[in-house]
Amino acid sequence: MFPLCKTGGLGDVVGSLPKAISELGNEVKLFLPLYGGIKTDKHNLIMLPEFEDIRLHIGEKSVFFNLWYGTLPDSEVEVYFIDCPVYFHREMPYTDDPDENERFILFQLGVIETLQRLKWAPDVIHCNDWQTSLIPVYLKTNYKWDKLFENTSTLLSIHNIGYQGRFSKNSIENAGLSYSEFYHGGPYELDGTFCFLKAGILFSEIITTVSPTYAKEIQTKEFGAGMEGVLSTRKDDLYGVLNGIDTNIWNPKTDNFIPYNYSKKSIKNKIKCKKELLKEADIEYNEDIPAIGIISRFAGQKGFDLMLTIAKELMDLPFQLIVLGSGEDKIEKFFELLAKTYPEKVNAYIGYNNKLAHWITAGCDMFLMPSKYEPCGLNQMYSLNYGTVPVVRKTGGLADTVKDYHEFNNKGNGFTFEDSTSYALYSTIERALTMFKDKKVWKEIIQRGMKEDFSWKHSAKEYVRLYGKASRVKDL
Ligand code: ADP
Repeated sequence: MFPLCKTGGLGDVVGSLPKAISELGNEVKLFLPLYGGIKTDKHNLIMLPEFEDIRLHIGEKSVFFNLWYGTLPDSEVEVYFIDCPVYFHREMPYTDDPDENERFILFQLGVIETLQRLKWAPDVIHCNDWQTSLIPVYLKTNYKWDKLFENTSTLLSIHNIGYQGRFSKNSIENAGLSYSEFYHGGPYELDGTFCFLKAGILFSEIITTVSPTYAKEIQTKEFGAGMEGVLSTRKDDLYGVLNGIDTNIWNPKTDNFIPYNYSKKSIKNKIKCKKELLKEADIEYNEDIPAIGIISRFAGQKGFDLMLTIAKELMDLPFQLIVLGSGEDKIEKFFELLAKTYPEKVNAYIGYNNKLAHWITAGCDMFLMPSKYEPCGLNQMYSLNYGTVPVVRKTGGLADTVKDYHEFNNKGNGFTFEDSTSYALYSTIERALTMFKDKKVWKEIIQRGMKEDFSWKHSAKEYVRLYGKASRVKDL
């Protein structure tokens, strides 16, 4: 939940969607683990003494949690934090530790137990990803007895089907669920594992994912990551809702992180941002050479391995490259080596840096996202609104937001390629570099991107409509 804690796009979504839902007249309460990185002082969070030491069972273990409270910055949206240091005070929110299942079982039970103590029955619990996928299960099993939740339905959003929460069979016991539902092809079972996401898909009233194209893709073998069969049984209740962006935070007119603010009418200031960015990167500014930006987690999904085999050919092209990211060792080393070999045209910052992310978005001419798959993607939307032309693979949310420019069809706000191949990537970058030379056309491409409205306005309404539908489905 940005700005308290973020590992990727979901952090941005949780930091902004609830405000938009609340502004539409709904009562919203958010729940989050009190991750170790969250600064309780800085964000004025308080511990609620009346909810001290709530006891839960994770399998045979007794575990206690406390409850903290605050509001989402710049809003009245209430946030409750499940505080359990043994589970949540770790270096990163998500881990590969052997008790990863227990961490999120505790969180989910904590949410339900807190609702009971608050005596607050929401119409809908909007769950996000496998970490919350057992909530729909619990409401229909272990907590079915509680009349408080009689009219509570659930909507599960899948932000990335690649992350499914698959654990060993004995996690069923940790979760306090019944082994009777664990059999080949049963609701808890997938390839011999206890799969939180599968259970969530089967038990929630409505399922959404974060773009219309991704909603179609995940029902295919190529993109479904083994979940396509399960999803096909719920296809009538599966919707794609494009993520919005927080235009208070990502807006070139008001962005505090960039050296000069600008709009469509004051685009000259964007060039000043570019000059400053290149100065910082120790790369010479040249108005005829575009700067391409990359800001990403370096996960296999993001497609940067397409660059590995064509590095030399790419470096022969006339562009400069500013990279910000971290993740897979292979990709980090690749960009580091590229920057070392071509310091006059490549700069790489390996790590996480929010200010630099804003600056790259403003200061580059193009933005590269060669994703193998991309559920929604936020960076291409930020880039479009910052007049930074996206060069992307046509998949998932990228396909829904970036329209390919073609000289015979003077529309389009970016450049896209279909095949996940190095050749397709190379020729699309080349195509973009050629168009960059035509200042008039380039300006039109930029202007079209800056005009796009990616605010939550439309998508928040769509969620509210689906919340209503979730309630009606439950009534049937
Ligand atoms: P994903 O959720 O798959 O990582 P998205 O495009 O949906 O991808 O969202 C990524 C978010 O994380 C964006 O806000 C982006 O600016 C931010 N981000 C990714 N890597 C970094 C980094 N190294 N430093 C700062 N911000 C980053």
